[in-house]
Amino acid sequence: MRFDMTDQSVSVDELPNAYRHTGGRGLTSQYISNEVPPDCNPLEHRNQLVFAPGFLGGTQIPNSGRLSIGAKSPLTGGIKESNVGGSFALNLSMQNIAALAIRGKPQDDNLYVIQIDPELRCTIHSATPYRNLGTYATVDELTNRFGKQNSVLVIGPAGEQMLKSASIQATDLDGRPCRAAGRGGLGAVMGSKGVKAIVLAKPQNNQMEVAEKRRLLQLGAVFSKAIMEAPFSGKVLRKFGTAALVGPVNSLGAFPTFNARTGVFPEWKDISGEELAILTSSRNGKVGHKGCSRCIIKCSNIFHDQDNRYLTSSLEYETIWASGGMCGIHDLDAIAQFDFLCDDLGLDTINTGVAIAVAMDAGHLKFGDANALREMVKEVMTQSDLGRAIGNGPDAVGSILHHDRVPVVKHQSIAAYDPRSIKGMAVTYCSSPMGADHTAGNLIGESLSGVVDPLRREGQVEASRKKQILAMGLDCAGLCLFTGSAIKNDLLTGLFNARFGTSFSSDHLNEMMLSLLKLERNFNQAAGLKSSDDRLPQFFYDEPLPPNFSRVDLSDEDINSIFQ
Ligand code: SF4
Repeated sequence: MRFDMTDQSVSVDELPNAYRHTGGRGLTSQYISNEVPPDCNPLEHRNQLVFAPGFLGGTQIPNSGRLSIGAKSPLTGGIKESNVGGSFALNLSMQNIAALAIRGKPQDDNLYVIQIDPELRCTIHSATPYRNLGTYATVDELTNRFGKQNSVLVIGPAGEQMLKSASIQATDLDGRPCRAAGRGGLGAVMGSKGVKAIVLAKPQNNQMEVAEKRRLLQLGAVFSKAIMEAPFSGKVLRKFGTAALVGPVNSLGAFPTFNARTGVFPEWKDISGEELAILTSSRNGKVGHKGCSRCIIKCSNIFHDQDNRYLTSSLEYETIWASGGMCGIHDLDAIAQFDFLCDDLGLDTINTGVAIAVAMDAGHLKFGDANALREMVKEVMTQSDLGRAIGNGPDAVGSILHHDRVPVVKHQSIAAYDPRSIKGMAVTYCSSPMGADHTAGNLIGESLSGVVDPLRREGQVEASRKKQILAMGLDCAGLCLFTGSAIKNDLLTGLFNARFGTSFSSDHLNEMMLSLLKLERNFNQAAGLKSSDDRLPQFFYDEPLPPNFSRVDLSDEDINSIFQ
């Protein structure tokens, strides 16, 4: 389904054969590679914003409700895919829609809402009443107007201002816009297209087509069992959420703290998953909350304030780290307020938290100042120079404060794993076509279980390569990353074959995923990114990280060799 925002036209075409055996990130990245000029400005009319459920979307397979969103990124300057949960992907696949693609740009500066009804009729409404409105208030207005059964994708003021950390927020199963496609500034691309929100009706029937239904269901049962039997996906996430990682990553000395000056946070217990679970239960909040369609893991939570009123959902590990450890803040209430503000303004919590940490490291703010954390997010709304820099991410803050300890790759902030103490993450951060990213080949599981020694250089390139290929497979399928420990290559291949009626081998599927990674890298090269962009900032190579006093010692050849 294609929308052209220049003349506000809509068309529905048969899916071209080239995209038949893919979905999710595979589809968005192929589409962007084929249809977007790599040298375009990400905010101009030639860029496109593509939304695609995975190839298992709409099936009964557990945790298959992720929606991939792709475009040329205004943050990294390269190709981008960011995926999000909620219910949008399921509702789209139930309509048998492989993707929505938005091209063009309105000739005025008006904002619009795209509404898709249960019969797939599309209407483009004015969004003038929602201009500058936060995502929560916008979703309230839209669901009052169109019905609570709709799934909504929405941008906040940050997307309207086309800031480089702008997210696209998706409604969760309770209808709150608390799930974020945060990375890469895709909210700015949506803002540049003049689209404030997309409202998608819940379909009456499931028209999803599956080649071998019975086989798919059999494999689904195997997959469900494996998810529930794996300790992390079956127990830990439901009990503590993703914040369960605070303790283990800190114990590896890899929890970047005070803008990555050390790898341990002395007050880590105050922001741990255990503490979050205790606080949440004592305030009638919820852990083990289901945030996305078809989820059986339930890593989400609902966090209440001191008066037992809803404050935010879902408070995640990466957010707790970016606004907690990185900023020296160990107050879960302050972190939860930060999370809500970012979701409401439509900002990536990782890039925003790290941008504030850079301002603290530069001496502009004090580490540990929870009030400054809150005020800095509000500053984004004022459109001051500093506010815009915070909204444009750590690089922009470093630039206006003349500070060069900025932990980014391709202008995108690293995530909550210091690459000096989990060296496989150095490889992933550098070589992923997505920029520094925690979902594109995360080696925390392998590092904690001893599959690779996180402090040694040996074996990291191969481990990252394998994990980046698996991440691509999960992203194409629309599967949540947390199923990763439960899915082996042959199971993913079986699911793919049952869905499409093919008989590919696991090796063949791996090759397909690898070729998609290469396709993304080729786009980046054509967009002007060089191998010098596949590097961490110098301080990761020079400054030993306490307590392991480790440095990144991977060579340029190591990084360059990964996809050869
Ligand atoms: S485990 Fe968490 S992120 Fe994954 S599908 Fe479930 S609620 Fe969504």
